[in-house]
Amino acid sequence: MKLEQMAGNLNFQQKDGIFTRTFSGYEATLVVYKVPGSYVKIPMVMFVLNKTIDKEDTKMIIKKAKLRSFIKESVALKDNAILIIPRFKNIEKFDSYMNQLVTILQDLRYKQLDYCPYCGEAETDSVRIIKGATVHVHDKCVKDFVEKVTTHLETVGSSKKNLLKSIIFAIIGGFVGLLPSIIILFTIGIYSAWLFLIIPFAAFYGFKKGGAQRGSYVMVIIAVISLIYAPGFMFYAYNDLAFINELTFNEALLIDDFRIGFIKDMLVTCLFTALAISFSWKTIYKQTHGQIKRDIKELRG
Ligand SMILES: [Zn+2]
Repeated sequence: MKLEQMAGNLNFQQKDGIFTRTFSGYEATLVVYKVPGSYVKIPMVMFVLNKTIDKEDTKMIIKKAKLRSFIKESVALKDNAILIIPRFKNIEKFDSYMNQLVTILQDLRYKQLDYCPYCGEAETDSVRIIKGATVHVHDKCVKDFVEKVTTHLETVGSSKKNLLKSIIFAIIGGFVGLLPSIIILFTIGIYSAWLFLIIPFAAFYGFKKGGAQRGSYVMVIIAVISLIYAPGFMFYAYNDLAFINELTFNEALLIDDFRIGFIKDMLVTCLFTALAISFSWKTIYKQTHGQIKRDIKELRG
């Protein structure tokens, strides 16, 4: 179904190509949203709130609204927007659901972000479309903010302080991520390619602990570490197998079963490592300066 049609069915009003509807003072925006880690855009309803939704409240909202989960977005403030997929088909159910959600937000003392998020003033002179929602701002506030962030990225952001420490921590982190694979191999003698999915996340966790600035290049570091560990592990496993059979690796390769098994497992390993990198990409990228630069671009319009 087209977004226009869906908006019409659900009584959303269109203004400048943006579909909104107000529920007890909370403005809901109907957006098409690309869910992190997926490649499809789906219709979702977004609420932009006046403060960060912390962990406690996230749990509370999920529980009370009987959601499986919801997506948090940063719209001018950090983690202050909620994206949900309500039942779009039936307007009565949709309305009662939205009203219920809004009641929960009221109970938790969240308000609609209806003032300039940069200075807090309610009287605004401009708007920006951020992540698909309208945000009321002052042109000057946005300009100052963009300038400040840009300067920050150019100075502090490009600092190489702690970089070596972070890389070492990322290497250690990646190894910790590999441990489940090693343990399973040594205890029950098999490997699970799915476990390779842990490696990039563990490496990134290490990088963060190191305290270096998270430039866009972090992605490359994480990818390289993952691409060394998983295939390296597979090579080690087969080397060990040859050793148990009192052969060198090269001698073992002359045995058909060994060679075919090695090639097959190596291909699976590389495939899953590539998967792991692409799977973790969005999550990790969101925490780098690359994302900040993108967000700033959106503000500039
Ligand atoms: Zn302002």
